[in-house]
Amino acid sequence: MRIDIITIFPEYFRPLHVSLLGKAAGRGIVEFAVHDLRTWAHDTHRTVDDAPFGGGPGMVMTPAPWGEALHAVTSTALPGARLVVPTPSGIPFRQEMAATYAACDHLVFACGRYEGIDARVIEDARTSMVVDEVSVGDYVLSGGEPAALVMIDAIGRLLPGVLGNVASAADDSFGGGAGPMAGLLEGPVYTRPRVWRGREVPGVLLSGDHAAIARWQRDEALRRTAAYRPDLVAKIAADALDARDREVLSRAGFPLRGEDMAH
Ligand code: SAM
Repeated sequence: MRIDIITIFPEYFRPLHVSLLGKAAGRGIVEFAVHDLRTWAHDTHRTVDDAPFGGGPGMVMTPAPWGEALHAVTSTALPGARLVVPTPSGIPFRQEMAATYAACDHLVFACGRYEGIDARVIEDARTSMVVDEVSVGDYVLSGGEPAALVMIDAIGRLLPGVLGNVASAADDSFGGGAGPMAGLLEGPVYTRPRVWRGREVPGVLLSGDHAAIARWQRDEALRRTAAYRPDLVAKIAADALDARDREVLSRAGFPLRGEDMAH
């Protein structure tokens, strides 16, 4: 996969050389190219912002450098390349979107700053490629760089060959698919020692009884999801819940829908 990033802070992307993503790049699984937007700003001060039309606080990124930058970067775009524009006013970034992006050959991230990028840049880009305006959460960051890093990390770990254990992504929270944890948050995890500060690892995990362990893990996942993300429990299809699931959810105080109660 090729990932191009356009930013006024190229140094912000040093973490791409660290950990899993750094190893993936070293092994040729993903290729990163970080471009300084100011390369395409031609005045003495390499200005990329101006006051907003209509008034109001802050500055807006001007269209000219963005237009040139996107033209230069996408002139060698691979088929199916997508432009991702981080913005708090975009569609929410979720695990399914990370999986969709991980199946692409080429992504371009356009990192805004100030009050954002002049809207005509996105309109113009849409005439030549798929453009997604994407939010990483319901809060406002000072720039698109941390949002792009978050998305690239979530995408990168889904690329074939990046995770040591391919099953681990499917078992993660939001793992999706048809697995036993589909649609749930992951429950608590433990490692050695068996007792730490007087706290013991739950006995079932030491039992060697795989069915009992799987049931316990699902119970914990259901409890955690009901407590922290009831919106996710509400999305689980009724026929995906067995009698034990309903009992766990009911004890967790989760109000099951009428049709679920009937099972
Ligand atoms: N005026 C904008 C608004 O209210 O929608 C916020 C601009 S923000 C200060 C500057 C830049 O940070 C945005 O252009 C975007 O690139 C990035 N950004 C901020 N919050 C974000 C979020 N939740 N998700 C993705 N990008 C975000």
